[in-house]
Amino acid sequence: MSSRLSLALALIALLCGIARADVVAPPPADEPVNLAVSVALLKNYHDSGRYLADLQYVDGKAEKIVARHASGKKLAVVLDIDETALSNWDEMLADDFAYFPAAPCRLVSGKLTSPCGAHAWDALEKAPAIRPTLALFRLAEARGMRVFFITGRHESERAVTARNLIAAGYVGWNPRDLLMEPDDMHVPSAADFKAPERKWIVEKLGYTIVANVGDQWSDLAGGYAEHDFKLPNPFYHIP
Ligand SMILES: [Mg+2]
Repeated sequence: MSSRLSLALALIALLCGIARADVVAPPPADEPVNLAVSVALLKNYHDSGRYLADLQYVDGKAEKIVARHASGKKLAVVLDIDETALSNWDEMLADDFAYFPAAPCRLVSGKLTSPCGAHAWDALEKAPAIRPTLALFRLAEARGMRVFFITGRHESERAVTARNLIAAGYVGWNPRDLLMEPDDMHVPSAADFKAPERKWIVEKLGYTIVANVGDQWSDLAGGYAEHDFKLPNPFYHIP
């Protein structure tokens, strides 16, 4: 018997012994994953490269659809912003995936303060591009498609959002094509804002949306796109 196998058997025996002796625990299937373990899993998903690979897989499928269409028609691509066009990984990491809308956030010696408030983070304009989505954006632009950004960010964040997009490499889009929620709008689901915006693009502007890309199901619900692309986001949920 190998020493590694011996060690594994010894460990199992030890654990079984503990369980028999004095541990009472819920059946494993009934207990949610430990929060600290969840945080470690999320970090590993990102750091291992699997997150990027999954982004590349989905955005790559969207690129194939975009590449399939001829130039010269009124074709559009719709992109969500957070965790679709731009990455808030640095903020999420600083906050251990908690959400602090109103806290301050500063860069000190190249490191974010903790907690890092969501709106203060947006105001830093430091979110880098999700690289596979930037590649998709550039392909759509090169093929003469109109790219719309539809975001749950509010109008009050228009200037910082536009500057961040440009700094991250999203250049050449029309400022009118950044569609943001009015400051007084608070909808139960992001789809309540986003689907009517797509309807307006299709029915009023006369475009065909060949690809709608988002990291939340609520980015995609409600139709008005030929193809929907759901990027991975195990980090937070927006109804
Ligand atoms: Mg998003």
